[in-house]
Order: sequence, then C-alpha cells, then structure tokens
Amino acid sequence: MEKRGCLDCGELLRGRADKKFCSDHCRNSYNNRINKENNHYVRSVHSLLRRNRRILSDLYQEGKTRIHKDALFAMGYNFNFFTHVIESSSGTVCRYCYEYGYSEDGRDFYRLHFNSSFLEYS
Ligand SMILES: [Zn+2]
Repeated sequence: MEKRGCLDCGELLRGRADKKFCSDHCRNSYNNRINKENNHYVRSVHSLLRRNRRILSDLYQEGKTRIHKDALFAMGYNFNFFTHVIESSSGTVCRYCYEYGYSEDGRDFYRLHFNSSFLEYS
C-alpha cells in the first residue's frame, strides 16, 4: 500500500485509505490556509474591479461620454478585468465593471456606458 502523508504536516497517515490529515488540528489549519489564499485572491480581483468601476463612474459623473484609451490607462484602469460583456443588437460590444462600461469608439477612443438594469442580463 502506498504511504501517504498528512496534507498539512506531512506525517505518515495510518488507517482509512481516504484519510487526508493526521488530526483535526491539521485539517483545520489546512482548510484555514486554503480559505485565506482563496480570500486573498478574491479580494485582489475585487479591488481591481472596484478601482475600474470607480474610474468609469467618476468620468461618467463628470459628464464625459468618450475617453481615450491612454487616458484610462494613465488613471490606473486595468483592461483585463471586467464583470460582464453585453453585445447590443447593433453589434456594439460593451465591457462592464458592474453598472459602468465602455465600448470601442474608433481611434483608441472608448464610449462610456451606464446600465443598472441588472435583471435584464442575469
Ligand atoms: Zn498532520
């Protein structure tokens, strides 16, 4: 039989073949560590999305309807992160960060969008 170690401390396991931990303590500490890593990941992505949303929302509140890609980039916008994509019936693709979004508007310009009707797209 293959020898297996505790997933947390590595100590050799005895007993049931599906056993993964040598003790409740190790099970808890392993699960806490995984949760912590997952939470860290989710928090990092969430903070990127929040920053993107804040940038779009500030521009929108200022009354801007178009913005150059470089200007968005200079404000710290991260184009890799968005919450969803909506394609209009006319074929315009809009990337959203929550209720604020942008679509390509030629020559590296973006048109800003606001759409808070969540239920329509869920
Ligand atoms: Zn252990």
